[in-house]
Amino acid sequence: MNKQPITVAYGDGIGPEIMQATLDIILAGGAQLDIETIEIGEKVYLSGNTAGIAPSAWESLRRTKVFLKAPITTPQGGGFKSLNVTTRKMLGLYANVRPCVAYAPYVDTKHPKMDVVIVRENEEDLYAGIEHQQTPEVVQCLKLISRPGTEKIVRYAFEYARRYGRKKVTCFTKDNIMKQTDGLFHAVFDEVAKEYPDLENEHWIVDIGAAKLADTPEAFDVVVMPNLYGDILSDVAAQIAGSVGLAGSCNIGEEVAMFEAIHGSAPRRAGQNLANPSGLLLGAVMMLVHIGQSEAAERVHNAWLKTLEDGIHTYDIFEEGVSTQKVGTKEFGQAVIARMGQLPEKLKPVSYATAGNEPFKVKLTPQAPVQIETVGVDIFLHCNDRDPNKLGESMKGFKAGNMALNMITNRGVKVWPGGFSETFCTDHWRCRYKNEDLKASTYADIMDLQKQITEAGFSIIKTENLCTFDGKAVFSAGQGA
Ligand code: NAD
Repeated sequence: MNKQPITVAYGDGIGPEIMQATLDIILAGGAQLDIETIEIGEKVYLSGNTAGIAPSAWESLRRTKVFLKAPITTPQGGGFKSLNVTTRKMLGLYANVRPCVAYAPYVDTKHPKMDVVIVRENEEDLYAGIEHQQTPEVVQCLKLISRPGTEKIVRYAFEYARRYGRKKVTCFTKDNIMKQTDGLFHAVFDEVAKEYPDLENEHWIVDIGAAKLADTPEAFDVVVMPNLYGDILSDVAAQIAGSVGLAGSCNIGEEVAMFEAIHGSAPRRAGQNLANPSGLLLGAVMMLVHIGQSEAAERVHNAWLKTLEDGIHTYDIFEEGVSTQKVGTKEFGQAVIARMGQLPEKLKPVSYATAGNEPFKVKLTPQAPVQIETVGVDIFLHCNDRDPNKLGESMKGFKAGNMALNMITNRGVKVWPGGFSETFCTDHWRCRYKNEDLKASTYADIMDLQKQITEAGFSIIKTENLCTFDGKAVFSAGQGA
């Protein structure tokens, strides 16, 4: 078998020790790798590189397209960018996959049957990082959900489920509140699910879904969700499986993929041969499957399960009465290597025979061209006078083309016309101008309106066009009576 080039970063803190153990184990398991090493993390940050990764390291990643990464330390203080976020975004790593498995009775857990895979969208949602302070009282973060971004992650979840013999894909959103953004995620999930009749599918509102996941994780199999919910719930899922130190994860892109442990660099444990290398090892197992070395992946994973059930445990999972031997990082690695070729007897052995070595093909459905018409505009104002009726009287006077003032909201709540005096108002107002019959407006009309408003002394923060897509109005109404 040809050796697969991969890029390896030993990271900071416990990183070098767990990486060495991981590489020793997977090479003993038959992995065929041609390893390029790069430097990332603390030293690079402190040398003045705010991203924590040098240009030559990017070159290696873009050449090998496979990145096995130990945890790094982000220095304290401002100005340092998260290396994970940068890597995910720069390399288009759209899917974060985190299997959360219980290993009862060898690792303590309240959910002995838990075996859930969280598939988190990795590039968009509130993590687009577009934030602005708009008025002295109000800051804004844009939540962006795209159809192709959603289709990629949802298809990935279904393809993953099919390939790994999973039975069900669940989607979590909050589309009862965020009807456009989470609504799109849910709608695309329903569309894609129809193409996988062999798999069960279901949708839960994220709040009750999260509660059920924390209470009865055995009811779930693969769970796909937008970025923020996935970030939070993948940590919850790993924690309740009882195995934060044992979980690996991967970040998959169309070209490049990154594999790692979910934990950090645990600086207090560094250099003492104490750390558990299992999280990184399971990340490396995912890497071996990804590069088509499924046999080695299976051998390593099963030898690791056997080590666990033989009670050979690092300090973090050691328990009197369950564990038989407390070992260090190196000795744990040697114990796994000594069991290479063996299967676990009590825990379920893994099989990657069906995984194949074809890369995941996540095609996007071509979309028909859409007729877009601008039918109005939301004009956002900074205004310190908190009387909505007074503001309404002033704003009513401005008209352009066929647009007239339709409503004013404050933090989304309709305060004019017919607002309640009880509604709390900030200095941040939205004035909606449109034509009731949704007739088209021109951009010149919108600019004319803004000119009138500005010349009257009002302070515009931003505008948002109101559009119809194929005749359908796709903008939220104000909340209120
Ligand atoms: P951490 O995950 O490093 O440590 C949390 C706790 O878990 C500690 O008590 C530690 O002793 C224990 N622990 C973690 N991994 C272990 C292992 N393999 N074996 C045994 N015990 C283990 O989280 P933290 O202390 O909040 O963060 C430390 C540093 O790691 C910070 O600089 C943070 O920015 C960084 N970090 C990096 C990554 C990454 O590179 N992907 C992820 C999270 C945190």
